[in-house]
Amino acid sequence: MWKWVVMSCLLLVRPAYAAELQTVLVVSVDALHPAALSEKTSPSLNALMRKGRYTLEGRSVTPPLTLIAHTAMMTGMSPAQNGKQDNAWRPGEPRVSSETLLDVAKQRGYGTAYFYAKPKLGYLVSANTDEHALARDDGVERAQTFFSNPGARFVFLHISGLEDAGSDSGWLSPEYLAELTHIDKALAPLLRQVASRGNYLIVVTSDHAGHARLHGTLDPEDFKLPVILASNKALPAFGPGVFSITELKGLVQGLLASDSRR
Ligand SMILES: [Zn+2]
Repeated sequence: MWKWVVMSCLLLVRPAYAAELQTVLVVSVDALHPAALSEKTSPSLNALMRKGRYTLEGRSVTPPLTLIAHTAMMTGMSPAQNGKQDNAWRPGEPRVSSETLLDVAKQRGYGTAYFYAKPKLGYLVSANTDEHALARDDGVERAQTFFSNPGARFVFLHISGLEDAGSDSGWLSPEYLAELTHIDKALAPLLRQVASRGNYLIVVTSDHAGHARLHGTLDPEDFKLPVILASNKALPAFGPGVFSITELKGLVQGLLASDSRR
């Protein structure tokens, strides 16, 4: 309750907010191979691609594993720089100490939430995360509920399912693609809700891909990931070549900053 009161005060003292992005949603679809995206398999995500900007040339870090890659994504730093070089974390152990995207959003006055589908991603909860939860199956619903609050404006949502489908049936297998269709359909109402809240930015990306029934190896396929940006406002185009997942934090931070200067 009090956090909404505090944010209401911030709104009063920062008139530039009227022109800022009202809502920012960052979705990491765990283990999403960019080649899986298609109008047939993922119509909601492909609709974002048509309207926005995207690259299918995203690259994970070494090794391309879930917690290591998400930490690189959220901190904008390589595993060597941010210090998270193992893929494990348990509740009670120290959490991330480097600045994350959630910290940046909070510093800019955004009410923040972080919903994640694997316990080890609790490592990335920081003091600047207003609401957070391990949400194995209901992250989309939790994000929708969070956004029903007027001061709630930034969500980082991690969705799992594809890593298991890839490990069980193979990356890009029919079962894997069916799981992506399931995720795409589940995301649709949240994407509509975000777009209905005024100026918005939606980012959809992933932590890594895989090949055959493997991931986390040095095979080039395992490093692949997409980055999709959608907004009602103008967006920068991706340059040619590879986009490192460590660039995502700076990219989103830049969009928040450029927006607030208008
Ligand atoms: Zn993963």
